[in-house]
Amino acid sequence: MDNIYNYLTLEKASEKLQNNEISSLDLNKFYFERIHEINPKVNAYITLLENEALAAAKASDDRRSRKQSLSEYDGIPIAIKDNLVMEGILTTAGSKILENFKPSYNATVIKKLKDAGLVILGKTNLDEFAMGSSTETSNYGPTKNPWDLERVPGGSSGGSAAAVAADMCVAALGSDTGGSIRQPASFCGVVGLKPTYGAVSRYGLIAMASSLDQIGTMTKTAGDAEILFKLISGYDKNDATSLKEEVKNDNKDIKNLKVGVPREYFTEGLEPEVKKVIEQAIEKVKNLGAEVQEISLPNSKYALSCYYIIMPVEVSSNLARFDGIKYGFSSKADSLLNVYLNSRSEGFGDEAERRIILGAYGSSAGYIGKFYHKAQKVRALVKKDFDEAFQKVDFILGPVAPEIAFKVGEKTKDPLKMYLSDNYTIAINLAGLPAASIPAGMVDNLPVGLQIIGPQKSDFEILQLAKIFEGVKSELPRASI
Ligand code: GLN
Repeated sequence: MDNIYNYLTLEKASEKLQNNEISSLDLNKFYFERIHEINPKVNAYITLLENEALAAAKASDDRRSRKQSLSEYDGIPIAIKDNLVMEGILTTAGSKILENFKPSYNATVIKKLKDAGLVILGKTNLDEFAMGSSTETSNYGPTKNPWDLERVPGGSSGGSAAAVAADMCVAALGSDTGGSIRQPASFCGVVGLKPTYGAVSRYGLIAMASSLDQIGTMTKTAGDAEILFKLISGYDKNDATSLKEEVKNDNKDIKNLKVGVPREYFTEGLEPEVKKVIEQAIEKVKNLGAEVQEISLPNSKYALSCYYIIMPVEVSSNLARFDGIKYGFSSKADSLLNVYLNSRSEGFGDEAERRIILGAYGSSAGYIGKFYHKAQKVRALVKKDFDEAFQKVDFILGPVAPEIAFKVGEKTKDPLKMYLSDNYTIAINLAGLPAASIPAGMVDNLPVGLQIIGPQKSDFEILQLAKIFEGVKSELPRASI
């Protein structure tokens, strides 16, 4: 049975707080009760910040009673992926090498949320350094899908997706380098927005592959994604790739929409049942008045290989800083070189090591031309496909992932199979575009997400379309945990 706190959105929670129907303290207590009950089964959180959150909630209630709230969302609890640094708070990135790392500053997004009065419940689980599609490579144990505990929540932002789906927070932040917000959003039946590259500051996001990483939102509705995106986006001088010009919400008329459906996204590899749900969703968009046309993204077939050259090169460079001296875990040894070697080999898991080695190889003097430079050229072609498509259509629609949530352990032995999970999401990161996953339907009682891809800086328009779609879709069942 629902009480007034169950399944609150940012929008509803804000309304209830402002009307004094609920207090921030009670709302936060409700979430911790739920977390204590459910998290042992789901393992969505690595770190809980109960004392800090309840103190922040009290302070928020005080501000409200003095009519000095910091924003409409003051006092609302939220969860944060554990690759975003928080001052003085354990930040692990899912890795053993950061098992005792307490950062000295707040990521820009954390600062923005705190400045708006939001309350941080805890840090959520992820694949180690955000490398993975199932949240199984975490040093802190796998996260389970709240819809079916034998299945993965997707990854790498699986902790955030599961926390939102199981109502263990109002909303959450994740990060997306090749699909890590959208794929778990699809598997857990929540809304995931991967913003335009540069729209949200990456300052304080523990870097995986800097030219692809982007922080984004995981929410129960598209309306909430809009609210949260507004709160975290904007220019930041601390991030050299931050967009100077803000992404605006100019409430474009969504009528007379032209929508493209890439034929390359509907070939073999896409599960027939998932395909059916996506086709029905596209039909709904058509019934809303959009003109649907088939398009082609001919270079998308190279996206995965291109990503698995560029990403590891950046990974191997970014992860060089974890040397057993500067941050976190340090292995004792008889010489400095052995401290480096032992700390890295004991501190990193298999997937991180695999990518560091791949990246070192792909950027080595003898191979950089053959691999990394060539991949950069292919990346330009992948982007060109999208540029050409957006001459003809406003949005591109397609699947997020080729299948529904798979079983825990099903793909851990076969990295190549795991990599295919991101076949439809990776090209978007290579091109720096915004895209969202929104719940579209169910297969075998598991959610399936529809992907909406737009041109650069169309983040708000994507969410507008998502909101319209939400309005017509039949109510999806909730994770029954
Ligand atoms: N699953 C992809 C990978 O393993 C994407 C990860 C991500 O987006 N952080 O690299």
